[in-house]
Amino acid sequence: MGPLIGITCNLEEERFWTTKHYSQAVKEAGGIPLLLPVTRDDDLIATYGKILDGLLLTGGEDLDPLYFGEEPIRGLGQVNPPRDTFELELCRHFLQDGKPILGICRGLQVLNVAAGGTLFQDLRGQLPHSLEHLQQGPRNYLSHSINIAKESMLFSLLNNSALRVNSFHHQGVKSVPKGFTAVAWAPDGVIEAVEKNQGFALGVQWHPERIWQDEKEQKRLFTGFINGCKNT
Ligand code: MN
Repeated sequence: MGPLIGITCNLEEERFWTTKHYSQAVKEAGGIPLLLPVTRDDDLIATYGKILDGLLLTGGEDLDPLYFGEEPIRGLGQVNPPRDTFELELCRHFLQDGKPILGICRGLQVLNVAAGGTLFQDLRGQLPHSLEHLQQGPRNYLSHSINIAKESMLFSLLNNSALRVNSFHHQGVKSVPKGFTAVAWAPDGVIEAVEKNQGFALGVQWHPERIWQDEKEQKRLFTGFINGCKNT
């Protein structure tokens, strides 16, 4: 039996939901996908931290700047306070226990903020010369290039330092927390991946779950994550 992977959901009115691609990628990589309902129950969150082997933080709305000590600027998008508090608390349990985390898009931002880092609330306003990171093309279109640091876990997984990725974000990492390192960048300098210096906690700003079927490197992100979950 493969490791149990908790996958965070969106909370929209009365529905918990996420796209099927995350579960499919986890299953394909050998994990057992489990969707997690958003909750404010601390005991339940601690229980999830105990019973799960790995955490997949999914994409979604903007993170409330409250959690990195800023007031909302004009350009901040929709926030989801119950989801923020749930994901940040759950992520901190995984960090404390040294259990593997894979953060995708918003998930990278949650990981970064849970560990003490900060975000750009709106790249367009705060970095006016940045590239278009909120692509208009299909979800699997690779709209911009990235460079990956060769001395990184990410590079060891992808075995490639220059590739193209899809991009559906308007927030981005501003400061990286202690114990973490930025390991991939778009040509405009925007950080596209952050990883923990020890253990498996990796966040990527793109959406590998939408492209792993065509891009072999991207599939190795999920197999690397699941293998990390088997080892802890
Ligand atoms: Mn991007």
